[in-house]
Amino acid sequence: MTTEELHKLDKKNYLPTFRRLPLAFKKARGSRVWDMEGNEYIDVLAGIAVNSVGHCHPKVVEAICKQAGELGHISNFYLSEPQALLAQKLVELAGMERVFFGNSGAEAAEGAIKIARKYASKNGRGGTIITVKNAFHGRTMATLAATGKPGMLKGFDPIPPGFIHVPLNDLDAIKSLMGPEIAGIMLEPVQGEGGINIADQKYIEELRALCDKEGIALIFDEIQTGMGRTGKWFAHQWYGVKPDIMSLAKALGNGMPMGAVMAVEKVATAMEPGDHGTTFGGNPIACAAALATIEVIEEEDLLNESQRKGVWLRETIEASKHEFPEIVEVRGKGLMVGVELNRESKPVMLKMLEHKVLGNATAEKVVRWVPPLNISDEDLKTAVDVFFQSLKETR
Ligand SMILES: *Cc1c(COP(=O)(O)O)cnc(C)c1O
Repeated sequence: MTTEELHKLDKKNYLPTFRRLPLAFKKARGSRVWDMEGNEYIDVLAGIAVNSVGHCHPKVVEAICKQAGELGHISNFYLSEPQALLAQKLVELAGMERVFFGNSGAEAAEGAIKIARKYASKNGRGGTIITVKNAFHGRTMATLAATGKPGMLKGFDPIPPGFIHVPLNDLDAIKSLMGPEIAGIMLEPVQGEGGINIADQKYIEELRALCDKEGIALIFDEIQTGMGRTGKWFAHQWYGVKPDIMSLAKALGNGMPMGAVMAVEKVATAMEPGDHGTTFGGNPIACAAALATIEVIEEEDLLNESQRKGVWLRETIEASKHEFPEIVEVRGKGLMVGVELNRESKPVMLKMLEHKVLGNATAEKVVRWVPPLNISDEDLKTAVDVFFQSLKETR
């Protein structure tokens, strides 16, 4: 079928929630994708920071196919090898004692909220969670409330209560709210959808100290920053500050829908049999894909690759700033980079598409870069050249 025919079907049948771009894709390998008409693109969005080891990595494909032919689903009444092995691997990587698997980011963030509240309730506290402005935690009712962006909430009343939003990097705002009603503080160490906004080192350290003093949970939403995106397995490892609870998803299964919530033992013991559940979470195929993805990250040294390419990307854009006065700031960690402009970023993203590069515009003025961690240096350079060209052509 043609792209046009597919979009016609979509317009007729699908809930009109997405502002779709006029594209449809048929095939992908590594950091390249091909549309229905066979046009080739370089992908520096990677399915929104999902395809971190590249599209259709042979090892991941093999793991999925093998598992699908052996045991596809069994329910959490029982156990399967991929689930038990993945849990062990994540516990080792994170140095956190417990994990629970779900199917998406929002579900992982929901799990984080539930664990924090259960822990607080055990300690005789209320369930209010402090979150940060410009955050993104998902689109289910509770994670929508946690996100708190007015435009996303409109028309969905009653919004679940129990979330208070404060500006990022403002410790005093959090201190002034502290009291027995507060169950925890939840934030992304580097905000993704919010425009690649980085939490300060001192702020994160002070949040850790505050949560310890109050006996409440520090929750990091590492759904976008986790699994090597920032050049370490988890962004909190840059800060040397471990959260009590952490949500993961996006790159975890390299495209197999999967999320996880992790917790340290002290907090995790608040959860008892019957407190949480899922039909699909921890599905053997998704877990096999995640195990293979982690193996590829280790074998291809992708944490270091993410750091190296991230530095190159930021320095290259930074060094061209004199030619591009519209660039306000280049921010990021590893291969999670945002370029803030003094004008709307969407026209630039659309121009990049015309030049066959799949980029991304977020937070109105930011061009976001989250390519596969194993993108070739050549493809990354081509994409940067296209970005510069697109800046010029959208003036
Ligand atoms: C994408 C994202 C989510 C939501 O994940 P879904 O899989 O879309 O539900 C939550 N938090 C962060 C930080 C994200 O980047």
